[in-house]
Amino acid sequence: MYLLTLLSLIGAAVCRTLDTIVEESHADRYVLPKNILPSFYDVILYLDPDNEAYFEGSVDIRIIPQTDTNEIVLQAMEMQINAADIEVFNEFQPTNNLYSSHTLASDDTHLLKIQLSETIPAARVHTLRFKQFRGQYATNMFGIYVSTYTNAAGQTEKLITSQLQPTFARRAFPCFDEPFFKARFRTTIYARPTYNVVESNMPLRPNDDLKKPDVQGWVKHEFQDTPLMSTYLLAYLVSNFQSVSNEANPIYSVPFKVWSRPGTQATAAFALEFGQQNMVELEKYTEFKYDVPKLDKAAVPDFAAGAMENWGLVIYREVALLVTDGVTTTATRQNVGRIICHENVHQWFGNEVSPVSWTYTWLNEGFANFFENFATDLVKPDWRMMDQFVLALQNVLQSDAVLSVNPMTHPVYSPSEIIGTFNAVAYQKSGSVIRMMQHFLTPEVFRKGLAIYIKKHSREAVVPSQLYSALQQALDESDHTIPFQIIDVMSRWAYQGGFPVLTVTRSAAAANSITVAQERYLTDNKLTSPDRWHVPINWVLSTNPDFSDTKPQAWVRPTFPALSFDIPGLTQADWYILNKQQTGYYRVNYENSNWLALAGALDTDHSVIHVLNRANLLDDAFNLARNGRLNYQIALSLSRYLVKEKDYIPWGAINPSFTYLDSVLSGSSIYSLFQQYVRQLTAPLYEELGFIAADGEEHVTPYHRNIILDLNCRYGNAECTSTAQSLLEGFKNNPEQPLNPDIQNLVYCAGLRGGSVENFDFLWERYLSSQDHSEQSILLNALGCTSNAERRSFYMQQVISDTSPVREQDRHTILVSVTNASPESTEAALDFVIENFAAIQPRVQGLTGTTNILNAFARRLTTQEHSSKIDELSSRHQSILTAGELASIAGIRENIAASITWNTDNAAIVEDWLQDNYGNGGGDDDIGSGEEPDDEDNGSPALLSGFVILISFVVTVFNH
Ligand SMILES: [Zn+2]
Repeated sequence: MYLLTLLSLIGAAVCRTLDTIVEESHADRYVLPKNILPSFYDVILYLDPDNEAYFEGSVDIRIIPQTDTNEIVLQAMEMQINAADIEVFNEFQPTNNLYSSHTLASDDTHLLKIQLSETIPAARVHTLRFKQFRGQYATNMFGIYVSTYTNAAGQTEKLITSQLQPTFARRAFPCFDEPFFKARFRTTIYARPTYNVVESNMPLRPNDDLKKPDVQGWVKHEFQDTPLMSTYLLAYLVSNFQSVSNEANPIYSVPFKVWSRPGTQATAAFALEFGQQNMVELEKYTEFKYDVPKLDKAAVPDFAAGAMENWGLVIYREVALLVTDGVTTTATRQNVGRIICHENVHQWFGNEVSPVSWTYTWLNEGFANFFENFATDLVKPDWRMMDQFVLALQNVLQSDAVLSVNPMTHPVYSPSEIIGTFNAVAYQKSGSVIRMMQHFLTPEVFRKGLAIYIKKHSREAVVPSQLYSALQQALDESDHTIPFQIIDVMSRWAYQGGFPVLTVTRSAAAANSITVAQERYLTDNKLTSPDRWHVPINWVLSTNPDFSDTKPQAWVRPTFPALSFDIPGLTQADWYILNKQQTGYYRVNYENSNWLALAGALDTDHSVIHVLNRANLLDDAFNLARNGRLNYQIALSLSRYLVKEKDYIPWGAINPSFTYLDSVLSGSSIYSLFQQYVRQLTAPLYEELGFIAADGEEHVTPYHRNIILDLNCRYGNAECTSTAQSLLEGFKNNPEQPLNPDIQNLVYCAGLRGGSVENFDFLWERYLSSQDHSEQSILLNALGCTSNAERRSFYMQQVISDTSPVREQDRHTILVSVTNASPESTEAALDFVIENFAAIQPRVQGLTGTTNILNAFARRLTTQEHSSKIDELSSRHQSILTAGELASIAGIRENIAASITWNTDNAAIVEDWLQDNYGNGGGDDDIGSGEEPDDEDNGSPALLSGFVILISFVVTVFNH
C-alpha cells in the first residue's frame, strides 16, 4: 500500500505507552487460532453499483484442521449470516452437516465462531460453506465500495472497487483474514449487463472451463484460480472503464493494462511504459519471475490509500497513476513513477513473501519504500532518486526523534492498531534502515540475499529472522565480512524506536585516532534512553576526499559507552567526515574544531565534499544545534557556503531547517534579519533559475526553483512577489494558456498571500471546473495560502461541509495547506480543529487524514500558548481520539516542549550571529567577507566575528 500523504508529511506513530495498557489477553482476543488452515476459497459475489444498500455472495472454504476440534474461528465484518446458510461437512459425506451454532462478534474482533456437532479430526479436509451472506458496501473506502465520477456527458457514473488491506477482506466474505493464512481463491462475480469491465486478480476463465451457473439478470465473470496468497491482496472492479495495453508493443512479457475513466486513456501512456520497464528491471534484480498471468493497473476516483498492490490488479488513486503533459507537475510525475514502482516491488515483497502478521508491516513497506527509489533509479537514472532518498531519510529522522515513536517491529492486534502501523516508521524509516543494510552488506551481497529470501519463501508468510538468515547466507558465501551476525545487528534496529547520534572527537591533537560515543537522539534533549545500536561507520579524510566506498570500516558496539578507532593519517588531515553519502541511519556530531574546518572546506571549495555529505552536514548541524548539542553559530556558519551551492540536494536538506527557524523566529525582533540572511544566500540562484524553466534543465531543477522562489517571495523580495502576481494576472486574463505546472503552486500562493478575494474566487472556481486530479491537487494545496480571514474560514468549512465538492480523500489537504501557510493561518487552523475535531474526524477519509493534520501542527506549533491549545484539543475530544491520533498528539507535545527550550537556549545566540553579520553595522555585502585566515593551508573558513569569539581556541589562527 502506498500512502500519498507520507510524501510530505509524517504518518502516525503508535504510542509506545499503549503497550503498557495492552493486557496479556489482548492478543488472544484478536488473533485467530492456527488450529485450522484454509487451503481454498470458492467465492461468489453479486456486485451492483446501482444497489448501494447491500451486496450478496456465497463462499466455500476448504479447511484442514491441524488438531482435533469442534470449533472453527474465522472473521466476518458487517455481514448478515443466517444459521440455515452455514454448512460444515467432509468431502466424503457432503450431506452430513456438522454445523451446530455460531456467533458473530459485534466488536472490533470481528470473530465468527462456529460450533460443530461433533469433533472433526486433525488432517481431515472439510468444507465450510456459507450458502449466502449479505455484506455492506463500505462508506469509508475500506472494504468493497461504490465510487462515482462525472462522464463526458456530465452524468454521474458509478463503479465498484475494493481496498481489503489490512483487515477488510472479512468485510467482503467470511474468511481467515490474517496474512499468515494463505490459500488459493476462485472468484466469480455476477454483475449487471450495464457494467462491462469486471476485473479481479486473475484473468477470466476460458469458456470451456466455466464452473458456475448463469443467473437471470446478471452477467457471470468467472476468474481463474489464484496462486497461494493472503486475503488482503484480493481485489474487485466493476465498471465501465477503458484501458490501454501492451498487447501491440510489449516492453514486458506479461499482459499489462492500465484501466481508467473513459476519456483519460491518453494520460495512461506514462504508466504503461514506465510500469513495464520497471517490471523488467525488478525481475532481473530479484532473479524471480512475476508469476500471475496478467498485471492490471486501475485508476479509481476515490481511494483511501495512494495505491494498493493487489496481486494482478493494482488499484491507484487517479493522481497516483495518470499523467497529463502540461498539467502534471514534475513532482507528481515523479511520484507516479515512484508509486508504480512501489506497487511493482510489492509483487515480490508482500505478495510472493508476506509477513506473518502486521507486527512486521515493515517487511512489506520498508522494502517497497527502499525499492520505489532504487528501482525507479534503474529506469530513470537522471531523476537522481537515490540522491533524493537522503532528503526522505532526513525527513524521517525528524519524526523518529521522539520517545513516543514505535519501533519497526511493533506488536499490533486490533484493527485500529494494525492500521496505525502503516506509518512513517514502516515506510521511510524502515526503507532507510534497509538502505543502510544494503551498504553495510555491500549492494551485491544484499541483492543476492534478497534473491535467496524470495526464492526460499515464495508463497509463504515469514518473520524477520527468515529475512536475516537469507541475507546471512549470501554474506557467508561472499568475500565480504562483518563482525556480527546480521540478526544481532538488525534486531536492535528493528526492536528499538529512534536512532543514535554519534559524538566523535579526535582522541588527542597528535593521535591518529578518534573516540566515538553513541546515545539515542531525542528532539527534547531533557529526555534520555538506554537504547544502543550496532552502528556501521566509515570515514573520509581531507587528504583523500574519496566518498565512493560505502562499506563499513568499523562498528560502534552497543555494549561500550565510547570506543576508540585508529585512523591512519588523521593528524595530517584538516577535517574528517563519518558516514559517507549518509548511508547510515544516524546523526554525527564532531568536536567544534572539525565543524569549523568543514565550514572552511565548504567555503573554499565545496565540490571537494560529496554532495550527499554536504546535505548531511547541513542537516546534522542544524538539527544538532536545535537539539542543544552544537552551537547555532557553527550551524549558521556552515550554511554560509550555500551562496555558492548550485545543487538541489543540499538546498533540499537545509530548507526544513530554515522552515523551523522561520517558525521559532517569526514575530521576534530578528525575524527580518533572518529573512535578509536567507535572501542573501538565495540571491545568485534567484537570478539564475528565475521563473521560467530552461530547455533541457535537470529533472530536480523545478524542485530547486520552487525552494528558491518560495523563500524569496515569502521573505520580502518584492520583485519575486510582483513577478508571481503578474504571472497570475496573465493566467486570469487568458486561462486557456496555463502556467508551467511546476510553478503554479508558488504563483497561486503568492497571489493569495496578499489577501485578494478576487484571486481566491478565481482559483476556487478553477478547482470546481477542473476534471484533472493533478490540477485539482495543485489548487487544493494553494488555496490554503489565502490570508483573507473570511475566505480562509470558507475554505476550512469545506472539510466538514456535507455538500462540499472536495472529495473526502482530499479534505485533509485543506487543513494541512492552511496550517503551513503562515503563523497566522496556523493559529486559525488550530482553532478550527479544536472547535470541529469531532466533525472533521469522520470526514477526512483515507488512511491517515487526521494524523496528517496533527503532524502538520507538530512541525508548526512552538509556544506555551500552543501547548495549552493542544491540551484543550485533547481534553475536549479525549473520548474519540484513536491510537494514531493520541500518538501524534504526544509527538506534538514533545516538539513544543523542545521549541520552548529552544527559545530559552538559542534565541540570543542566533540573534547575536545575525546582528553581528546582518544587523546595524553589518550589512548585505558582508557575507563571505569576514576575517580571513592568516594561514592559507589550514582551509579555515572566512569566519564571522561573533562566531570567533565564541570558539576561543580558534581565535589564535585568525589575524585580528
Ligand atoms: Zn506499500
